[in-house]
Amino acid sequence: MITFKNIGSDFIGANCYYLNFDGNGIILDSGVDPKKKGKESLPNFSLLKEVPTDYAIISHAHQDHIGSLPFLIKEFPHLKIISTPQTRALAELVLHNAVSILNKEISDEDFVPYSHAEVDLLIKSINYLEYEKEIVLSSYYGGANSDVKIKFFDAGHILGAAGILFENQNKKIFYTGDIKLSKQQILPGATLPLTKVDVLILETTYGATSVEEIPEWDLEAERFAKEANNILSNGGSILIPVFALGKMQEILSMIFILIKKRKLADVNLFVGGIGKQISSVYDLNRYTTNRIDKEFEISSIPTLDYNEVNNCKDFFKSPSIVLASSGMMIKGTSSYDFAIKWLSQKHSAIFTVGYMDPESPGYLISKARKNQSIFLDESSRIKVNCDIKNFRFPSHSNKNELLEIVEKLNPEKIILVHGEEESINSMAKLILLQNKKRKIFLAQKGKEITLLN
Ligand SMILES: [Zn+2]
Ligand SMILES: [Zn+2]
Repeated sequence: MITFKNIGSDFIGANCYYLNFDGNGIILDSGVDPKKKGKESLPNFSLLKEVPTDYAIISHAHQDHIGSLPFLIKEFPHLKIISTPQTRALAELVLHNAVSILNKEISDEDFVPYSHAEVDLLIKSINYLEYEKEIVLSSYYGGANSDVKIKFFDAGHILGAAGILFENQNKKIFYTGDIKLSKQQILPGATLPLTKVDVLILETTYGATSVEEIPEWDLEAERFAKEANNILSNGGSILIPVFALGKMQEILSMIFILIKKRKLADVNLFVGGIGKQISSVYDLNRYTTNRIDKEFEISSIPTLDYNEVNNCKDFFKSPSIVLASSGMMIKGTSSYDFAIKWLSQKHSAIFTVGYMDPESPGYLISKARKNQSIFLDESSRIKVNCDIKNFRFPSHSNKNELLEIVEKLNPEKIILVHGEEESINSMAKLILLQNKKRKIFLAQKGKEITLLN
């Protein structure tokens, strides 16, 4: 018997799934919901209390896929953890970074954040598996058919991101994780297994976004350069909120290459936080993972550290570009604090470059226009004096690419995950239009789906 259960959020948030292969219990990702705090941000681990659990496999090191792993391991210390070596290296940075953030924000006495020492132990216990190497996972208590073969495929989303192929009882199941089929600036796009699968667990982040809204990377880079030059030549500065992991490296490299090609004004570039350390991990892995240009090192880009700028006014003294996390301008992060300053500057601009959750401050700011007023929280009204421009440099597949994945892997059953309700519904319709015979499941929290009887 093979079953699936969603342990995390219904839509985008804390990603966590449970697969049971004849008694071999595998937890797939263990994320936190970045919009929530404390216990509320965690998956419902109590759903795992009554079922066998053997392994935890982490698809990539973004918080919505790895952020609750330390809590999962506290409750289930026997779990063997598996990821790619790159995800393991990135996990060390992002989980240590999260310790400091958690300690700052938690006031709930019931909720004990994890410590740096616990992260060190956790990282040591992660077993790594390289892309396209196969291993067999055996279960301690599982039945006669419980051995599962697994293989990681480069998902093209961020460094180390993996799509995961499971094989058990002659059935193949593929979990995309977060997947980007076409190229970004540094990463060349995903590799898919060259096989038909029985079940596909598919992310649907851009399932409801029209393909026209997500232009090709290089065309969008040209538009970016043009709009940026307008602001910079007027003496303004540009704030770009980015995820420290992935988006920062891709966008910084894109800006540098545009400057080198003389398509963009050569101004000071500011970065900060753990983005720099993450760039070093990208560089260290440039020969061992897929790259568009293996010689290119992100760390060779001349940048200044925004944490060393004592007064925010300094950013506006001469034209500059500041890349700050978090990507969705979540309250309490650098990009949120900078955005408050930027909004009052009439010559400057905020450029958004990626996905904004509709409940995030970033979404509100990305929709605002010059001279409007917005409420970032109930009490404070802020007048928008700066320009706001939205760009799309996605690290997720667009609708057509998602359909291409479905077509190539040709599954009978598809479980739609990691998308807003609208995206999931839209993908379900498109997949059925393509082929009526496919069976589609929505991964409702806690509901068991039988994949093989
Ligand atoms: Zn991700
Ligand atoms: Zn994700």
